Formats: sequence, structure tokens, C-alpha cells
Amino acid sequence: MIEFQAVTKKYPDGTVAVDNLDITVEEGRITVFVGPSGCGKTTSLRMINRMIDPTSGSILLDGKDIRESDPPLLRRGIGYVIQHAGLFPHRTVLDNVATVPLLTGSSKRAARGRAGELLELVGLPTGLAKRYPAQLSGGQQQRVGVARALAADPPVLLMDEPFSAVDPIVRDDLQQQLLRLQSELDKTIVFVTHDIDEAIKLGDKVAVFRVGGRLAQYDTPSALLAKPADEFVSSFVGRDRGYRALGFLTADGIPVGPVATVKVGEPAEQARGALTDGWAVVVDAENKPLGWISADLLSTVEQVGPDDLVSGGSLFEVDSAAGSTAGSLRNALDAALSSPAAVGIAVDKQSAVVGGVTADTVLSALADARRSGEVPT
Ligand code: ADP
Ligand code: MG
Repeated sequence: MIEFQAVTKKYPDGTVAVDNLDITVEEGRITVFVGPSGCGKTTSLRMINRMIDPTSGSILLDGKDIRESDPPLLRRGIGYVIQHAGLFPHRTVLDNVATVPLLTGSSKRAARGRAGELLELVGLPTGLAKRYPAQLSGGQQQRVGVARALAADPPVLLMDEPFSAVDPIVRDDLQQQLLRLQSELDKTIVFVTHDIDEAIKLGDKVAVFRVGGRLAQYDTPSALLAKPADEFVSSFVGRDRGYRALGFLTADGIPVGPVATVKVGEPAEQARGALTDGWAVVVDAENKPLGWISADLLSTVEQVGPDDLVSGGSLFEVDSAAGSTAGSLRNALDAALSSPAAVGIAVDKQSAVVGGVTADTVLSALADARRSGEVPT
């Protein structure tokens, strides 16, 4: 648990970056600090590991004032991830992560072994461990940054806009990965972002800051959406609020209908017979979707080639048997709206096609949820 008690930070030039902050960050949860640029998020975060000291007030970590802890020792228990990963450019990916266990006294061999495990944990392909950071994509570098932050197995993880510099698809992937990691690791995570969507997706609790370093509201994501404390919070979270509420409703149990599928490589003649309303999903040998094919397209080819497809729009997951990451109604609606055939593809844990839904189906699931009072209005 991390407690900010009347914490103020005034920089020497007179800027008040954080103004009388009182907040309790719960143990084993993800707490997100969100707000517009310059509202004091980074300053607040860095006061936790004493990279910055408050001008007044106290911060307690598990009941102990952090001023009583030696900063290097304090930081051993606090992982830190920043936007551009902050990796050592002249060390391999593996050695970047192994540095931490080496510092804490592991043998070189043990440190590298541990680094390998961590890279696997964050989903970095093993073949990349020998590369230098510059030889990785932005998203891969962020994974390494997370692996390194986890290397000392710190109970607390501070993350300052770690996913802000990568493209939206990679960001989505990294966010899912973080949620999956957290469901196994139960760290106390403080995550900074300026993106309210990211805050709502990741946070167990969300602290909305306003410029001047003042806390505007501290609540669960659904409470923030349902009961914004004031005009500022309301306009900050207000954009697309209805869509966001859809994100809280699971797509599990939504009636998924059959969808026409054809196998890649199938003769066009045969595929034509399988279309529904002029469209079919093209799948590989494992029934994973590759894209869509239309009657028009089929009339121009001999067989269903992987290069002749119309890209598929988003997918959503319905099978939550093994984990708990079924898609939301928001994912389902997006899948339907982004599909060229107006049918959103539902997939199982193995990404194999289960069936399809139309936007109408999703909206009637929403209407049911409203009737049973599951939707905050
Ligand atoms: P955020 O992370 O929310 O964008 P910061 O915590 O970085 O905000 O900054 C909060 C305010 O403090 C801003 O007005 C910023 O310009 C100011 N600030 C940050 N660092 C310094 C510094 N070292 N000296 C003076 N002002 C600073
Ligand atoms: Mg910042």
C-alpha cells in the first residue's frame, strides 16, 4: 500500500506540480494516474521512488515513511518502466534484463537464466534475446522494459506512459499482456497515462488529475463514468462515454450465429456455394480467420488465395473457459461494424472461428443488460 499524505511538490521556479495530494494506492492492484499533460502525473510517480522529493507532506510505503529508506534500497523493491523503455543501447536484450539480478548478487549464469524466463513471461520471442535494443520494434522494446522492471521481483511497479509511443494495435496487445501478467503476479502497479481509454481499461482504480497537480476524482472506472465528480472530469471522461460503458459488459453468452467459412486454397467454384449474403470468412487449416472473400472477388479467381482477401476488421473472443479475458460487448460491436460483411467474427482461445454476430445482435444484448440493470446510466 502506498499512501500520499498532503503531498505537495513545488519546483524551484515556483511551479506547483503537485498540490496537496492525498491518495491511497491499494496493494496488488493497478492504480492509474490520468490527466492532461503537465498535471503532475510524472512528478507524483517519481516521488514514490524518491527520484523527486516532496516539498511537504509524506509518502508511506507499507506504513513506513519512504524518507527513512535509503533510495537505492527503496528502488530495489520498486520496478520502473518509462516510455522509451530506457534500455542500455550497447547491451543485448538478454543482458539488459540480466543486469538487475547481477546487481543483486546472482551469478552470471543464474542472471541470464532468470532474464530468459522473464523475456518469455512478457512474450518476447526467444530468438530476439541476443539482439541489441535498436534491432527491436518499439513494442518489443517495451516488453523488454517490463521484463527488466520485473527482474528483481519488486512488489511495486511504476509505469510512466509505457505504451504511449507505440501504434494502437501494438498498444492494445501490450495492455492485454499487462493485464494477463498482473493476474498472475499481483503487483502493486501505479500506471501513468494521458489516455482515458487506457486508464479505464487497465485501472482497478483511476485517479484523474487536473492541471495544477490537483486530484479531481479517485474512483473505479465504472464509478468515474457513471458519476463524474465535476465538469472537468465529466468532459475528460465524457468522450464516447456510451461506447466505453459497453466495454464493461462481457460478450460471453451473446448469441453467436453461424458464419460462412471457406478454406484458403479451396477452388473458387466450391467456395461460391458456401457464401452467405455474398460473403464468407476465409480460414486457415486451424480454422483461424485470414480475411473475407466476396462473390465479386470469387468471380475473378480460380481458387481462394491468401492475397485476394478483404481484410477482416476486428475479432472478439467469446470463450472465457480457461482465463477470464472474454471480449466485451464493445469489442463485439466493433467487430461487427468493422467487418466488410457486417458480421463480427467471434473466436475462441485458440483464435479459431466460432461464429458471427451482427450489430443488431450486440445491441439487443445491450438492451437486455440495460433491462437487468447491468449498465450504468
Ligand atoms: P505530467 O507528467 O502530468 O505531464 P509533470 O509531473 O511532468 O506532469 O509536470 C507537472 C508540472 O511541473 C508541469 O507544469 C511541468 O512543466 C512542471 N515541471 C516538471 N518538472 C519540472 C522541473 N524539473 N522544474 C520545473 N518545473 C517542472
Ligand atoms: Mg509525464
